[in-house]
Amino acid sequence: MRKPVIAGNWKMYKSLSEGLETALALKPLVANANHCEVVVAPVFTAIKTIADRLEGSNVHVSGQDCSTEIEEGAHTGEVAAFMLRDVGCKYVIVGHSERRQLYAETDSMVNRKTHAGISGGLTVIMCVGESLAQRDQGIAENVVSGQLQGGLRGLTAPDLDRIIVAYEPVWAIGTGRTATPEQAQEMHAFIRRVFAEGHSTEAAEKLRILYGGSVKPENIAGLMKQPDIDGALVGGASLRAESFAKIVNYK
Ligand code: PEP
Repeated sequence: MRKPVIAGNWKMYKSLSEGLETALALKPLVANANHCEVVVAPVFTAIKTIADRLEGSNVHVSGQDCSTEIEEGAHTGEVAAFMLRDVGCKYVIVGHSERRQLYAETDSMVNRKTHAGISGGLTVIMCVGESLAQRDQGIAENVVSGQLQGGLRGLTAPDLDRIIVAYEPVWAIGTGRTATPEQAQEMHAFIRRVFAEGHSTEAAEKLRILYGGSVKPENIAGLMKQPDIDGALVGGASLRAESFAKIVNYK
């Protein structure tokens, strides 16, 4: 049985006090959510304070990104995965489409971040997803399999337990336009097949694949009914504790 993961990506929103307020409001609202892992990803500067205040609860903390570098060193502006772990993170998101589009991240950088996240003791939520133009050209599967193979290159069998894939079609992120449960299911099943071919059927059966793209309290249940959808990566609707809690408590 794959335990679902519902993760909130707060992006570059919320000051420390706003983030803390949201996290503390969320905590009691999801305290009985034993059916899934609950994760929030605040900005770097709020992680330590929020992680400290959530300690012992069922809400875990994620970084939104990490350095490609594993070791500390002269890399101005970067934060290493082990440093995220040091301040209370259990997860890190890598390869988000905003990082790929706005900061020119390549599959090879995503791959280095994935390795860095695992060596830093984190579970890596690796994002993949096609643009609308790519979907319209009929190359969505090629794009996603390329991102998957490129991002996961060189991982060993034990590393795979530390990998979660988030399928986030770029055309559905922040647009209010969600993939239908059937569209998402089709790509999730494809991702699991590609993962099985690249690694093993057992590893593919264990892999959690999250859907992301305009997930809301109104559409989460339909998505979660699909056999290959193992949770959600939520942007906008995770910014308010009440709406994120409704998504977490979709059952
Ligand atoms: C995201 O940023 O990962 C995301 C899925 O955003 P939204 O839910 O707002 O579409």
